[in-house]
Amino acid sequence: MNYSNVWLFACAAVLTAYAVRAGVYGDTPDSRHAWAVHDSNRPRPPVVTAEPGRPPSDATVLFDGSSLDAWVSKDGAPCKWRIVEGAMEVVPKTGEIRTRQAFGDCQLHLEWASPSGVKGDGQGRGNSGVFLMGMHEIQILDSFNNDAYADGQAASVYAETPPLVNACRKPGEWQTYDIIFHQPVWEGETLKHPGSVTVLHNGVLVQDHWEFEGMTTHCRRRPLAPYASRLPLALQDHGDLVRFRNIWIREIPSRYANTTHGGPAANEADVMALRRETADKLFAEANPADQNKRAALGRMLEVVSYDKTEEYMQIVLRLRDEYLQELSGLNAQQIQDRKGDIIALRNECNVLVRNKVFPEECKLRAELQRIIQENALEKKN
Ligand code: MG
Repeated sequence: MNYSNVWLFACAAVLTAYAVRAGVYGDTPDSRHAWAVHDSNRPRPPVVTAEPGRPPSDATVLFDGSSLDAWVSKDGAPCKWRIVEGAMEVVPKTGEIRTRQAFGDCQLHLEWASPSGVKGDGQGRGNSGVFLMGMHEIQILDSFNNDAYADGQAASVYAETPPLVNACRKPGEWQTYDIIFHQPVWEGETLKHPGSVTVLHNGVLVQDHWEFEGMTTHCRRRPLAPYASRLPLALQDHGDLVRFRNIWIREIPSRYANTTHGGPAANEADVMALRRETADKLFAEANPADQNKRAALGRMLEVVSYDKTEEYMQIVLRLRDEYLQELSGLNAQQIQDRKGDIIALRNECNVLVRNKVFPEECKLRAELQRIIQENALEKKN
């Protein structure tokens, strides 16, 4: 993209941003979507600040070089690993460590380094691992010039699938894992979704939304089975002096938690309940008695785009008739003066008809269209 294209793109983006406003604009809510496309009423996401090289403002810091307090041994005793030069280092034979806090679906960042002195090969070189919820191991291994079996290399989902590529740095060099994890979803004993993991190793995509086949063990395939919705994160002691630093985690919602908009768990009853709630809230602010009939009608069109109750529709029809009556008393110049409002309202009717909120033979749209044509309101100068 050259600079002039960048400028045009920026202008288009600004114009698009200004075009989005309250009222009927994008495709309306439906049985799977509680919000319209570009819906101004939809809650905005919370703000998170993320400075380069720093944990995001909403992250839980699990290790920043100063303390092992976030970690315990498997039996709950204080963590027996040690801090060396601001890094946390495995103390062999002290066992895995776990977070005090339990987590479910998450974004996890950690940095690790295998020992700079190469010792051993295969699984015996710089081996540790990140156990998501204590169940699914993302392997840590010195895979640099190390011919370990594929499903046990660094960034493999251990015993399930190799990384897409080997992005391993040299022994002793710091490496990053950025992991997005979704736990399996169960409904009683029925598996609804096996969960998934995405991993970036040193910024390189190495696991692309891998859906779990089971839970990590050695040599065998261990099928998925229900476990608690939050469990500690664990780091493996495999006897090697692997170091860790800059570990933070952010809990993220399950895709199956979203029952009101799109998504695999969209539920018609939940969607309809939220649409009703929004319609009622907008109606409370709609002021159908407003002397500005155009504004009152516009607000009511928005209300019925969420929930077309008999009560609301009666108000729409009354306001429609009053507004059309008002327009019929205007002269040509007065109509010209209101052309922006009239065209915008016709456009809103188009959206409502397209989305079957109003029937194809919508009287309001037909009348507005007639006025637009008779007064050449869309004629280019
Ligand atoms: Mg391991």
